[in-house]
Amino acid sequence: MNYFSLNHNAPRSTFKNAVIKGLAPDKGLYFPESITPLPKSFFENIDNLSYPEIAFEAIKQFVSPEIPEETLKTIVKETLSFDFPVVKLNDNISTLELFHGPTMAFKDVGARFMARCLGYFNQDNDKEVTVLVATSGDTGGAVANGFLGVKGVNVVILYPSGKVSDIQEKQLTTLGQNIKALEVNGTFDDCQAMVKTAFLDESLTSKMQLTSANSINVARWLPQLFYFMFAYKQLHNTHKDVVFSVPSGNFGNICAGMMAQQLGLPIKQFVAANNANNVVTRYLLSQLYEPKPSIQTISNAMDVGAPSNFIRIQEIYKNKFEILKENLSSYSFSDDETKEAMLEIFNNYNYVADPHGAVGYLGCKSYLKNNPSAHCVFLETAHPTKFLDVVEEVIKEKQPLPEQIQSVMGKTKEAYSISNYEDLKIFLLKS
Ligand SMILES: *Cc1c(COP(=O)(O)O)cnc(C)c1O
Repeated sequence: MNYFSLNHNAPRSTFKNAVIKGLAPDKGLYFPESITPLPKSFFENIDNLSYPEIAFEAIKQFVSPEIPEETLKTIVKETLSFDFPVVKLNDNISTLELFHGPTMAFKDVGARFMARCLGYFNQDNDKEVTVLVATSGDTGGAVANGFLGVKGVNVVILYPSGKVSDIQEKQLTTLGQNIKALEVNGTFDDCQAMVKTAFLDESLTSKMQLTSANSINVARWLPQLFYFMFAYKQLHNTHKDVVFSVPSGNFGNICAGMMAQQLGLPIKQFVAANNANNVVTRYLLSQLYEPKPSIQTISNAMDVGAPSNFIRIQEIYKNKFEILKENLSSYSFSDDETKEAMLEIFNNYNYVADPHGAVGYLGCKSYLKNNPSAHCVFLETAHPTKFLDVVEEVIKEKQPLPEQIQSVMGKTKEAYSISNYEDLKIFLLKS
């Protein structure tokens, strides 16, 4: 598959090049040149397919011929070594649990898939690749875990000092080996700005191969389309229109769902569930796209003021507002509404949701008000114990720590402190 830049000012790229470079040279996001729907028989037969088989068929066209089929089978099998259960709350609402991976956030799948692709491309290459990534919390842990021990790949993670949870900090600072954590004396926006500066700094990029591991990278973004197929496998016998409510920040996950829809998965509608960072909710009302600086909320992985994947969504729906509106609804909720929803889910269904999942649940409720016969699945994007303080405060009950979390809590943090771009550059050049 070849990819083109959505800024339309760069040469076509192979999958391999798109993975290694991250962004196109014109700073545009890469997008596949064509999307061929899967045969009807694939969906009719989905009950008989395992998760790795579904994933293999769904992603094959996007990575071939550069990743041979046998290698791809191994990659998806290793990537998907945990479960993706749908839990029914009532006749109209279910949740798809995406937190059973090693760092208990949905980003594990994308990070593990990308790490294996990059590892494959780099196996005969003596030039090392440095994955540089800024995190507000979950990305760092998933990337650190996914890339641990991958030959020829160094990972440098920037995180804002004092602004990620203890668990998140442990997940990204305790692994060692090829993973380095930089504790930035500043905010997440500062971390992201430094990473952007590094990608544009020729005195750096001429000396080392830098790539990104957030959802702008096609190998992190595309495998997220698996989730929607896994949910469909579990739900298609309910005989209702299936709608997905996706707690959204950079809109990578929901945009991957739209790719699953382009592959023929019968999805009636997407609901973008937002916190106070509601640029897309406002766009659907006004047709005015007005990014804003991010606002801090309790669902902090969605505190994004300018969602990077929105341009891909527009491309999928042919840059036509009418088509976009037919496929996408969006609602925005406050922190108070989110906490009320967490309590409601706990009291009515005896289910503990994290703040991001709770925003997704609210998205389902808003959608179902006007479409009462649909079945809405909200994505539970992180395990509730990753947001322990707010979860325990709201439901007033202690939560047991899952094994994945317990195993990092006793480890020793290792991080280098930096304050500005010069510090980052010195660090990168000497490492
Ligand atoms: C990253 C993240 C999101 C937002 O996903 P996008 O693909 O950026 O829209 C939602 N919830 C959690 C827990 C996350 O870590």
